[in-house]
Amino acid sequence: MARAKFEIKRKCEICGAWFYAKTVESRFCSKKCSEIASKKKKAEIEKLAKLEELVANIPDSRDYISVQEAVAMFSVSKDTIYRLIRKGTIPCVNLGKRLIRIKKSDLENMFGGREYVLDNTFKPLPKLYNMEPENCYTIGEISEKYHVNDSTVYLHIRKYSIPIRQIGNYVYAPKEDIDNLYKSGKP
Ligand SMILES: [Zn+2]
Repeated sequence: MARAKFEIKRKCEICGAWFYAKTVESRFCSKKCSEIASKKKKAEIEKLAKLEELVANIPDSRDYISVQEAVAMFSVSKDTIYRLIRKGTIPCVNLGKRLIRIKKSDLENMFGGREYVLDNTFKPLPKLYNMEPENCYTIGEISEKYHVNDSTVYLHIRKYSIPIRQIGNYVYAPKEDIDNLYKSGKP
């Protein structure tokens, strides 16, 4: 470690006290604070290892994952996941207390692949929609299936920003979004 040529006044990264650094690498004011820092670092490494293990144990074939698994897999905070569920941005199924399950593919669409970004600075990707007619309902089909009239369907589509596509005389909306919307009981 290089000796500082001059005394360097620094703020301890653990307790926030000002101290004179003995070397240019000194980041903590005391032996006690150094020890706290190394324990913290060790805990952080163990936490990451646990997350890795959790992700490694999710079979590729499983479509639904828990909130904890989503946190590990997409490196987003639990709060972010719950916020997106509350906002309806990501649909979820609630199998009971602490048993929320989220579709892996919804998260993949939103967060892309896995990345270790341990803060909240990520930007969600826009959802990818499949607007092929076979993956869509017509407005008539929606009103029949969910017993709502056409103009109410249009109202819900606008209110919940569901994309639509017009082909000839028919307007199509993605089945998945429509089903999720009406099954959620929100409208
Ligand atoms: Zn300190």
